[in-house]
Amino acid sequence: MTNAQTKIHNFSAGPGILPQIALDNSIKAIQNFAGMNLSILEISHRSKQFEAVVNDAVQIVKDLLGVPEGYSVLFLQGGASMQFCMIPMNLLDEHETAAYLKTGEWAMRATKEAGLFGKVNVLATSENENYNWIPKDYVIPADAKYFHCTSNNTIFGTEMFSFPESSIPVVCDMSSDIFSRPIDVSKFDLIYAGAQKNMGPAGVTLVIVKNEILGHVTRKIPTMLDYKVHIKNGSMYNTPPVFAILVCLETLKWVKEMGGVIGMETRNKAKAALLYDEIDRNSLFKGTCVLEDRSRMNVCFVLQNPELEEAFLNLAKEKNLSGIKGHRSVGGFRASLYNALPIESVQALVDAMQEFEESNK
Ligand SMILES: *Cc1c(COP(=O)(O)O)cnc(C)c1O
Repeated sequence: MTNAQTKIHNFSAGPGILPQIALDNSIKAIQNFAGMNLSILEISHRSKQFEAVVNDAVQIVKDLLGVPEGYSVLFLQGGASMQFCMIPMNLLDEHETAAYLKTGEWAMRATKEAGLFGKVNVLATSENENYNWIPKDYVIPADAKYFHCTSNNTIFGTEMFSFPESSIPVVCDMSSDIFSRPIDVSKFDLIYAGAQKNMGPAGVTLVIVKNEILGHVTRKIPTMLDYKVHIKNGSMYNTPPVFAILVCLETLKWVKEMGGVIGMETRNKAKAALLYDEIDRNSLFKGTCVLEDRSRMNVCFVLQNPELEEAFLNLAKEKNLSGIKGHRSVGGFRASLYNALPIESVQALVDAMQEFEESNK
């Protein structure tokens, strides 16, 4: 961003805000990559310079999350949505059952895809309350093939702050809160995340998979949808999304610079507390989710009087607060506080809410 541009506070739910330094370095790589006097967009993905990008990206993921031995880190295409089918295709035989926690739209879509490949047992759901809480009172059946959950429900604004103990493999969609806090990777067998919420641009999906859970289904798996093919080829079976991987690397370097996932958690807790405190204090607004399950990434809130909605959106526009209109399935407002969003932007939103309260007394 140059000084001539207006500072926009970017609360977009996805693709979401990226660190300025990651954007700047990525632009440089488009102009002149690794001193080659060529753009990263016009060189071979088999060049040693690009291979270094993939290797560094895998390594920084391992370092930041503390990925144990025995896991592979992959950069795939097709978005998190492709994982909805790739997971059951690779892990679930037709006569077997997978256990799913249905906590939102994305969890629902994951559940639906699994049903195309095997049997699905929905252990619990909060669908009746428009997914405004996370069910915790359920038992994971020991004879299910795997348990699938969604760590952060981007649309409804709930987040899992504890994960159930499980004797079977645990699969988790972490698209919208990966790298926002420390996680114990050893407690999961497959983690996936579309990059465009919290770790990079659209076009690449991170998969962290425990090698030993693969290779046990009897069906034939198409080459491009077989995790083992991508592991064997180091995410380079075919042309990978070269630029998207580079932007992820640049973003994760910034995460590391800022104190890693512990540093991110400290920042994110402070940002979320600032906004939720104002939502609870301000007489005009109220939160939509059960307190203990409130997401630190996607803060959903509404006006006590919905007729004022347009007026608040107009004020937000005037204050350069971008992307706060709520998802159609919740209404009201959603402020996404991803890693790269500075606390100053949250303060600007809080200031606008206070000004709005003053003028609507
Ligand atoms: C956005 C999102 C998805 C879908 O991601 P795509 O990359 O668009 O397929 C899946 N799960 C969660 C939790 C998301 O936030």
